[in-house]
Amino acid sequence: MSAPEIADLATAAAPRLITEVPGPQARERIERDRRVTSPSLPRAYPFVPKRGSGSVLEDVDGNLFLDLNAGIAVTSTGHSHPRVVEAIHRQADELLHYSASDFFLPIYSDLCEELDRVAPFRADARSFLTNSGTEAVEAAIKLARRATGRQYVLAMFGSFHGRSYGSVSLTASKSLYRAGFGPMLPGVIHTWFGDCAHCPLNLTYPECDFATVRYIEDVIFKHLVKPYEVAAVVVEPVLGEGGYIAPPPGWLAELRELCTRHGILLIADEVQSGMGRTGKLWAIEHFDVEPDVVLTGKGIASGMPLGAMIARHDLMVWETGAHGSTYGGNPVSCAAALATLDLIENGLMQNAAEVGGFLLEGLQGMAERQPLIRRVRGLGLMIGIEFEDHDTMVAVEEAAFARGLLVLGCGENAIRMSPPLVFREDQAKTALELFEEAVAEIAGR
Ligand code: PLP
Repeated sequence: MSAPEIADLATAAAPRLITEVPGPQARERIERDRRVTSPSLPRAYPFVPKRGSGSVLEDVDGNLFLDLNAGIAVTSTGHSHPRVVEAIHRQADELLHYSASDFFLPIYSDLCEELDRVAPFRADARSFLTNSGTEAVEAAIKLARRATGRQYVLAMFGSFHGRSYGSVSLTASKSLYRAGFGPMLPGVIHTWFGDCAHCPLNLTYPECDFATVRYIEDVIFKHLVKPYEVAAVVVEPVLGEGGYIAPPPGWLAELRELCTRHGILLIADEVQSGMGRTGKLWAIEHFDVEPDVVLTGKGIASGMPLGAMIARHDLMVWETGAHGSTYGGNPVSCAAALATLDLIENGLMQNAAEVGGFLLEGLQGMAERQPLIRRVRGLGLMIGIEFEDHDTMVAVEEAAFARGLLVLGCGENAIRMSPPLVFREDQAKTALELFEEAVAEIAGR
């Protein structure tokens, strides 16, 4: 059987496997890869993509997969969306690069104008564009220290903010990310995220009265650092790598209030949760909270490298030359981002809410039939399915892969579903069937 034409890929509702997976071409490629690439790359399972369209990927052996990873929450508009590809082509023909740090690249400020328009706070925004999420985090740490004249930063256990030195110092999802690399950036203190299911204080919402926020006041400010020395609290409004966990209603508002009271900046890291994934442009909008700074990346440019630190204009007090980047805000990435934002705002965000709701409901029903599933949670197309332990989660992930369904673990024992925002209901139906088969197979072992 030969692989279908690219136009057919996006319309496929179901995977189609024509070899065992990984197939012979994939195995050969993996062997070559292992000889020359850094062994630090985490590689979840032996998937070797060749081309993609919409929510469907073809591997090097011609097998079709349903993609619920989206290149880890990146290909927001689906693989190679024609409008995004066209914008990239157009910009590539015109100008590939001219450092926006040193000169006035029009498309750079075009995108910053759009980010000002959509920023999740009422004040005017100014943006600093980067090549990645981690660089947006680095920029935010530097700006927060500079703008407040304070040196401490609070971050949450369970959070992931990247792997460069500043961001990995905030990251506290797995100790593996930090092992052997210390000492970390000084002045970072970790506190508790509002994760009710795993509340470190063993309290029940709403009786807890947001004790994890009060912990900052009662423990950290009392025993470790004065609030007037804290520049910022960095938080993912929905934990990504840490398990796709949303805080309870009111928790972020409580955190906002604490920050406002002490003149501390609230920095929302929306690298994973932003750009329409949760059914709103920013996840923090679900909680009616305005951050002082919002960070984006991943889905903003459909797969082209781009990130942004978007800050309230009055915080951008650093002087000329204080921060910059040769490639950050590359014109081709900016072109992809402008097309992506347009698509997200004009239909895809709505689709994420609708298809996400359908998928979530299906998974909740599945959890009643499949005792291996402990909990299902999610907002839009950012859905986590929790199993009893890590090994069960990995076994389900692999059983799904064997059926042509691409999903990925997160946290200790959860699987995340973060398909492209073009994901359709017929594809969600297929995904539910295949996922349940995978879970049932592992339960039967
Ligand atoms: N922040 C969050 C919330 C993320 O999920 C990630 C990546 O997974 C990052 C920051 C780092 O982004 P990047 O891998 O583009 O450096």
